[in-house]
Amino acid sequence: MARAVVTGGAGFVGSHLVARLLAQGHEVVVVDNLHTGDRRNLPEHPALRLVEHDVREPFDVPGASRVYHLACPASPPQYQVDPVGTLLTSVLGTQHALQLAERAGARLLLASTSEVYGEPEVHPQPEAYRGAVNPVGPRACYDEGKRAAEALVRDWHRAHGLDVRIARIFNTYGPRMALDDGRVVVNFVQQALRGEPLTVYGDGQQTRSLCYVSDLVDGLCGLMERTDHVEPVNLGNAEELTVAALAQAVLSLVPGSELVHEALPVDDPTRRCPDLRLAAALFGYTPRVSLAEGLARTVEDVRARLGRRRAPGVTPRCADPRAP
Ligand code: NAD
Ligand code: UDP
Repeated sequence: MARAVVTGGAGFVGSHLVARLLAQGHEVVVVDNLHTGDRRNLPEHPALRLVEHDVREPFDVPGASRVYHLACPASPPQYQVDPVGTLLTSVLGTQHALQLAERAGARLLLASTSEVYGEPEVHPQPEAYRGAVNPVGPRACYDEGKRAAEALVRDWHRAHGLDVRIARIFNTYGPRMALDDGRVVVNFVQQALRGEPLTVYGDGQQTRSLCYVSDLVDGLCGLMERTDHVEPVNLGNAEELTVAALAQAVLSLVPGSELVHEALPVDDPTRRCPDLRLAAALFGYTPRVSLAEGLARTVEDVRARLGRRRAPGVTPRCADPRAP
């Protein structure tokens, strides 16, 4: 039984990764300050421990053999609330996770992002593409923070021989996304279930490629365990669709709402789609869950949580500025 550390393990992706690691028989230590995460995302389990801690301060988990470093707000509205804090979370948090990995002799995986490609001029995006990021725009705290984190991880390998992996994660969705997260899938699903208009930013012709969370967890575990590749590897799903088409897909499951167009956020990328050939070649990565299936599971999860919030005497799970 290996001891795995998951920073950011109380968040959306982290909590699914924790469940997988526990199911595989590992002991798991979650390090999370609950900034955008929630302890209720984690099960009661004898092999699981939550350490409430901000990764901008050093931390230690003796005996760790794997460090999955996910701690960082990931939704644009969430990471822009405190942009300086977000950038420092990426840079200092990654440095502290690397120091822990070195002390423990552990392998470390960084959860990086497709945002390192910025507004891509190459489509779909392969790992060799170096990106077009606005270094001083409102998304820079996240994009540049992750670019710096990648550089740190790669330099720790170069300078200290640390065993590292870098996952460039493309848009991922599924159950347990916080209701006040603000990303597109949980917004649309929630709006549709409430009978409210779906807020399409801009003309809705910008694209994303959406990966169901269990497929991403397959990719994170595969990258950690089934290859020794230390360069960045894209993970996601290559089925690209427009935001307007996503809205229609949600409405086909939960009909009745209108669409309303709102301003496109500054620097919102126009197109995004992963080239997944490297992950496929390295460890046979293949996303399996279709958008229809993944959205149906997400709708059921959000419906259940909204139902619990409405039940008399039950405290809402998340503060939700969009709630009526
Ligand atoms: P999330 O916001 O649900 O989870 C982030 C977790 O990190 C939360 O539990 C939060 O409390 C914790 N955290 C934030 N700042 C922290 C700090 N300073 N110290 C300790 N813990 C802190 O987001 P997510 O979607 O689960 O993303 C997880 C990781 O995956 C992030 O690193 C993100 O950049 C990366 N990622 C996610 C996606 C996606 O589509 N979900 C895409 C690209 C990259
Ligand atoms: N978006 C939207 N309505 C929403 C939330 C997001 O139209 O309520 C759009 C957003 O402008 C972007 C896409 O959906 O073009 C994905 O946004 P998200 O915040 O989920 O992720 P990211 O921009 O980081 O890819």
